[in-house]
Amino acid sequence: RLFVPFDLAAGPLTLGKEQSHYVANVMRAKPGEAVTLFNGRDGEWCGTLETVAKSAVVVALTSQTRPQTAEPDLWLLAAPIKKDCIDLVAEKATELGASRLWPVITRRTVTARVNTERLAAHMVEAAEQCERLTVPEVMEPQPLDKVLAGWDAARPLIFLDESGGGMPLVQVLADLSSGPLAVLVGPEGGFAPEERAVLARLPFARPVGLGPRILRAETAAIAALSVIQAVRGD
Ligand code: SAM
Repeated sequence: RLFVPFDLAAGPLTLGKEQSHYVANVMRAKPGEAVTLFNGRDGEWCGTLETVAKSAVVVALTSQTRPQTAEPDLWLLAAPIKKDCIDLVAEKATELGASRLWPVITRRTVTARVNTERLAAHMVEAAEQCERLTVPEVMEPQPLDKVLAGWDAARPLIFLDESGGGMPLVQVLADLSSGPLAVLVGPEGGFAPEERAVLARLPFARPVGLGPRILRAETAAIAALSVIQAVRGD
């Protein structure tokens, strides 16, 4: 199952170098075999391999297997953390239905550099594996205050607050109507008191606690998205 940003009107499509290598050398597929493709816009398609060469695999789309359906409008704002941990968050956020991963730089962010291309590649792989019809977008990192300054108040922001002052997530979700939502998780060092004070004054931000124990940032992100998926069911 491959994500290929194909154009339905364009006829047979030639896979890029990496996907061709995967199909030809890893899967050892042969011409005439079927492959499943999605482009994030037109649902899921079955295709037939027309040419299988190491450098270029050509696929003809044969039939649509699933129509495009609406997916959650759910953003994850996360302070950058260690490489392996943010990679894990990218993968799990994709499986759990996030539509956007937005690295935000907070006061205590240690690792401000983020390789968004690597994160995007993890998200493509995860979307292919979990049978999503879209791949979440990865934003370039931005300071948290700038992100909040441009916020659309119609999107509630669930602010994961390790200080113990937040409401239980299930209770907050029960108060919100379905629709756009965002989750904000802090860095290893947590939010600075000034950031917590700013967030507390924002009418669209809801401080949320995930229980009595301090979770690692990646655990908190995955736990929150899991609860949201379980409660909202999409
Ligand atoms: N160094 C901080 C401390 O000891 O208080 C812990 C920060 S925690 C490792 C990283 C982030 O995960 C926090 O900023 C918060 O967003 C989230 N988090 C961790 N545990 C949480 C909890 N029990 N409830 C809500 N959010 C939590």
